[in-house]
Amino acid sequence: MIAQQHDASGAHFGFTDRWGGVSAAPYDELNLGGAVGDDPQAVTANRELAAKALGLDPSSVIWMNQVHGRDVAVVEGPWTTGEIPAVDAVVTSRRGLALAVLTADCTPVLLADPVAGVAGAAHAGRPGLVAGVVPAVVEAMVAQGADPARIVARTGPSVCGRCYEVPAAMRAEVAETVPESWAETSWGTPAVDVAAGVRAQLGRAGVEMDGQSHICTRESADHFSYRRDRTTGRLASYVWLDG
Ligand SMILES: [Zn+2]
Repeated sequence: MIAQQHDASGAHFGFTDRWGGVSAAPYDELNLGGAVGDDPQAVTANRELAAKALGLDPSSVIWMNQVHGRDVAVVEGPWTTGEIPAVDAVVTSRRGLALAVLTADCTPVLLADPVAGVAGAAHAGRPGLVAGVVPAVVEAMVAQGADPARIVARTGPSVCGRCYEVPAAMRAEVAETVPESWAETSWGTPAVDVAAGVRAQLGRAGVEMDGQSHICTRESADHFSYRRDRTTGRLASYVWLDG
């Protein structure tokens, strides 16, 4: 199943769950990740199914080769070199071009300034949060003419702060950069709340979040979770502007 949200101003957001695709276990069913060990033909079929459900042409969806960094690529059309760049954020000023983020616990960040006609998407896991991929994508959008005050910002399903257990030293290290990410698991051990950190970073960049998914991937049987299942599929979150 695929959830779609529209902003009155022409920004579109799409969020998949794990159902409605053709992949076999443990990638069942709607795995959209091409680098997790699933049958490539199944992934292609799933990407087509998801695009169709969202009313998109599969060839107008931009996928990234995500590496937990902070690099941003500006795209004006489908990748042409054959090689998908290793970036964790993309920005476009081409209406109708959809930007997609793959996750299975990390936080997908979707941004759009419908007035300027600029969209952005970022993959923010714990390393990306610390590296600053969120301020980097906002900065890249501003360079394309976006105004932070106008940006519509949403995040998709991700592991929640009560589930994302980390060693105490790691929590402290992340909180040094993003204090708002400091969290504790429901069982009382150190944790990181990446989505809270993303929200704080967006706020410091002048972007107010107006839609945060409350789905925790680790707790939801309807979503892929790396921390729960290790070998599993990937969800996708999409953002695009009216063409
Ligand atoms: Zn949770």
